[in-house]
Amino acid sequence: MEFFQQYDKLLSEDELGHVQCAREFCEGAFSEAVFAAHLAGEAVPVEWVRKWAATGMLGLQARRAHGGHEASYMCKIRVAQEMARHGFAAAFCLNHHQGGVTRLSQTGTAAQTEHLLPPAMRGELLLTTAMSEPGGGSDVSALTTTAMPVVGGWSLNGAKAWLTNGMVVDGLIVLARVPDAAGGNDIASFYVPLGEAGTFRRREIVVPGARSFRLAEIFFTDHFVPEWGQVASSGAALKASMASVNSARVHVAAMCVATLQASLSEAVAYCEGRQAFGMPLVGHQGLRWELAEVSVRLEAANSLVFRAVEQIQIGVNPVRLAAQAKKFAVDTAIWGIDQCVRILGATGASAAHRLNMHFAEVRMAAYADGTNEMLLDRIGRGLPSGYRN
Ligand SMILES: Cc1cc2nc3c(=O)[nH]c(=O)nc-3n(C[C@H](O)[C@H](O)[C@H](O)COP(=O)(O)OP(=O)(O)OC[C@H]3O[C@@H](n4cnc5c(N)ncnc54)[C@H](O)[C@@H]3O)c2cc1C
Repeated sequence: MEFFQQYDKLLSEDELGHVQCAREFCEGAFSEAVFAAHLAGEAVPVEWVRKWAATGMLGLQARRAHGGHEASYMCKIRVAQEMARHGFAAAFCLNHHQGGVTRLSQTGTAAQTEHLLPPAMRGELLLTTAMSEPGGGSDVSALTTTAMPVVGGWSLNGAKAWLTNGMVVDGLIVLARVPDAAGGNDIASFYVPLGEAGTFRRREIVVPGARSFRLAEIFFTDHFVPEWGQVASSGAALKASMASVNSARVHVAAMCVATLQASLSEAVAYCEGRQAFGMPLVGHQGLRWELAEVSVRLEAANSLVFRAVEQIQIGVNPVRLAAQAKKFAVDTAIWGIDQCVRILGATGASAAHRLNMHFAEVRMAAYADGTNEMLLDRIGRGLPSGYRN
């Protein structure tokens, strides 16, 4: 697709094949299922994760030794964009789990990969990351969940909130407080299998119009975490969790660009077909300029996002640029999709179009992986190194 050409030019033949596979998977039945679930006020059926897994895509960036493709970051971005054109929330969730598989394959211990990786790659064991709590999200250092040492592992108590796929996950990477040698406490992280134990319960966080994120709180009471579950020990956990935050921000930004691009395509197609005052809507200069304005900002967002993707692709960790890309792409997508809904006339807000679904789902991108204020804070702190000659 021409709009994404600058990304695709940098992919290998194999990687272009993955993008093509994603495009073919998403068009048709998947796209229809995503929209039907939205209209019914439900989450897209979880069986689509298994169908996606059957294409081998959950192992997109997993090591070849684990049956993965070892694809590049640029390829992951393009695959996510193909999906986000059909539904942001479904794409976000599938990519979130896929990220868990990648992390497990690339950094998991032998015991962790043995226990979790094969079913995770088959889409039979879904993973999420659990940092946020009911008491706070932006301020991770304020978390109160505890993991106390017990025979053979740890005992987990507390609650996690806003968990992507939380209604269906089978395992979580949890950040929790552990006792330290000095008699205080520090933060460590763990793979926490949920299993059948009665020591946890879930509660959906219902977000009308965006239930495909399957957001939930999970509460733990003396929940057992096996010894092999430790990911990062006391002192290293926050650093390990934040290590991938910049690539996650750019990932979200790139999906926002794709969802806005799909929305603008839908709006242009409608305005070419609909007649008013003896000509297609798009023939009216006033309306054409409104669509043109959306296209200008979409292209600007895409250029910024592409620059950030390129940096990550070559191994740079672009802290300020990632925050800028996410902030601008999210704001532009929310504004641009809203414009498309309005420009079409009343039908734009109806079930005849998926624009309202795109709007409700992209709206949630403003919180995940950093709110606007947190991003501006990060950008502000990078000003001296970025803009002082
Ligand atoms: C779709 C979606 C998926 C998510 N998935 C996950 C997941 O899988 N795992 C997970 O752990 N979390 C997840 N989250 C949670 C997300 O990370 C949090 O929503 C986010 O960190 C913000 O936390 P909060 O919503 O509790 O807001 P708060 O931290 O309570 O902030 C409330 C408001 O205050 C502002 N604010 C806070 N501190 C400051 C400050 N110092 N200066 C200025 N303004 C400030 C914030 O920007 C925000 O506007 C998800 C959220 C969404 C919406």
